[in-house]
Amino acid sequence: MKPLIALVGRPNVGKSTLFNRILRQKSAIVDPTPGVTRDRHISPGEWQGKQFLLMDTGGYAPENDSLSVSMLEQTLRAFEDADAIIFMVDARAGLTYLDLDITKILQKTFKDKKIFFVANKVDNPQVALEAQSLVRSGFTEPYFISARDGAGVADMLDDVLASL
Ligand code: GDP
Ligand code: MG
Repeated sequence: MKPLIALVGRPNVGKSTLFNRILRQKSAIVDPTPGVTRDRHISPGEWQGKQFLLMDTGGYAPENDSLSVSMLEQTLRAFEDADAIIFMVDARAGLTYLDLDITKILQKTFKDKKIFFVANKVDNPQVALEAQSLVRSGFTEPYFISARDGAGVADMLDDVLASL
């Protein structure tokens, strides 16, 4: 069985952009997985000769941060099957309450899972500097990437795949 890597994060942090970037060499059509929610997409990918499945989700949290913690917990159960989780935040926006709620639930629910904390939209050195404050979030030091431009994505993927 190919390991499953899940992209997790509140809306608009760049999950689908990263999904498309990682799978860009693949012409595989992103099909909705039967029997699961319409917007859960799983596609095969390959990195440095290693094969995996990548899961993108959308719309599991409202745009505003009003989702209750128990609802969020319920939603995050969708990631139970994942072998590794890429937890994305938006470095430009900084951490939101929803990011912090997700962090807490991931730490509590998935103690034994590999979770990679990724700060996206770090498109230039200025944002990278500002994003240093995320290091103090109490989670773990993030990988700084730009899903749009590709910066940092290879190093991050190396570590994710090496952990599997
Ligand atoms: P999702 O809701 O988490 O799937 O986020 P999307 O992938 O749909 O991206 C949300 C918005 O952020 C879009 O307008 C993207 O173009 C933009 N975006 C994604 N990655 C980056 C990035 O690395 N840098 C910048 N500046 N914008 C990005
Ligand atoms: Mg999306």
